Amino acid sequence: MLFPMPPLDAPHTDVSTIPALAADVRRTFESGLTRPIAWRRLQLQRLHALLTEREKDLLDALEADFQKPRFEGWATEAGFTATDVRHTLSQLSKWMRPERVRTNLANLPGSSRILREPLGCVLIIAPWNYPIQLVLSPLAAALAAGNCAVLKPSELTPACATLLAKLVPEYLDREAVRVVGGAVEETTALLRERWDHIFFTGGGAVGRVVMEAAAKHLTPVTLELGGKSPCIVDADADLVTAAHRIAWAKFLNAGQTCVAPDYVLVHKSVESALLDELKKVVTEYYGADPQKSPDFARIVNTRHHARLVGLLGDGEAVVGGQHDAATRYLAPTVLTKVKLDGKLMGDEIFGPILPVLAVDSVSEAIRFVRAREKPLALYVYSRSQDTVDEVLAGTSSGGVCVNDCIMHLTVPDLPFGGVGPSGMGAYHGKAGFDCFSHRKSVLDKSTMVDPPLRYPPYSADREKWARRLL
Ligand code: NAD
Repeated sequence: MLFPMPPLDAPHTDVSTIPALAADVRRTFESGLTRPIAWRRLQLQRLHALLTEREKDLLDALEADFQKPRFEGWATEAGFTATDVRHTLSQLSKWMRPERVRTNLANLPGSSRILREPLGCVLIIAPWNYPIQLVLSPLAAALAAGNCAVLKPSELTPACATLLAKLVPEYLDREAVRVVGGAVEETTALLRERWDHIFFTGGGAVGRVVMEAAAKHLTPVTLELGGKSPCIVDADADLVTAAHRIAWAKFLNAGQTCVAPDYVLVHKSVESALLDELKKVVTEYYGADPQKSPDFARIVNTRHHARLVGLLGDGEAVVGGQHDAATRYLAPTVLTKVKLDGKLMGDEIFGPILPVLAVDSVSEAIRFVRAREKPLALYVYSRSQDTVDEVLAGTSSGGVCVNDCIMHLTVPDLPFGGVGPSGMGAYHGKAGFDCFSHRKSVLDKSTMVDPPLRYPPYSADREKWARRLL
């Protein structure tokens, strides 16, 4: 096992070169290179080759950065993104086709259509928790839509950032796709440039910085943010399946997942049964000592490790609670008797700590969720369609999974994104292609007839007919 590795510095791009880099990709876009479908297809095929031929290097880098288990590295990063690219390749010509729409009487004879055109040069800023997927999956959508792209991976996963800086120019068109290494200073320099779209994945605080910088150039943004995604478990839920799916989703990537179930609201009549199942499942997944399991990741850095350890005091551990700063280990942990006014229930947890709170009813759970910010995801476990409908109608969230967690984002035709403080805009599948395309409305008119109804001099007669026909 490679972990723990000696600290490795992420690559840093000299900030003085950033204006020239932005100008270079702008020139490439203006040359028209990226528009033809043949170029788009080739780039997607090369991206797929990067993900498959270099899978071992990618999994090694993920393991070096935070001991991401190799299965998780494949399932949630390299393999996930390769599947996304294949889907995009298979649908691309359909998505690029002009979309015919109906034409109103006033414009006949004529026809109307919507053309998708590339936005231009896009900036993709990524976080550290899925450091491959969250760079390359938006990139696939940007390339499919015919754009140039500049990528800014996170500095907190240096092995992945270093590898991307090496592989991207090796596989993709260097004129059109560039990688910038660095942290705040480099990202700030990038944000000073004019982009045609900024696609940001990360926390709300930096999301605000990005939006403010984008406003200066009136650049549209997609913000893929986070939040506290609730998980409601009703009295009639299949508790064995619920415990398996919740524990998998929470402890995957050691809880460092934007759509991880942040906390559970369980009907009080099944609280202790659910806790028993969760206890069993954690041992089934990670053994008696999860620290020895090769299937459990580490916390990304010591700052986040200390933050998470600090949250443990806001509840009572019924599972886990052990931690080790030297290896940034924090056991898969389930907390009860949770303090409602502490940081645990105030901030996004983003680690392997699952608070479980008992509620009297689904209505109380809905009130609890509604009293907080709109989350990125919401999960409900119940056998009753009425309960599911009540939760769907009573809450707002970026997405929902019924009787599962996280899996909604693996459906290619479901747009993935937040609402309110959990984000704006969406991607995945066609939504990703649309996110990086301008929908250009085109009305084609015939000159065969030209009724003068709309032209001056206006008259009562013309107005009478205009009111009837237009
Ligand atoms: P972050 O916001 O700290 O950093 C994201 C990126 O912004 C990094 O590339 C970083 O270098 C850059 N950055 C940081 N500070 C900056 C500043 N002051 N100015 C300009 N750029 C700056 O996020 P993170 O800690 O890497 O990721 C965790 C957050 O991301 C969580 O809130 C999580 O929920 C969210 N997230 C959301 C999704 C999603 O798809 N919605 C996916 C993964 C993570």
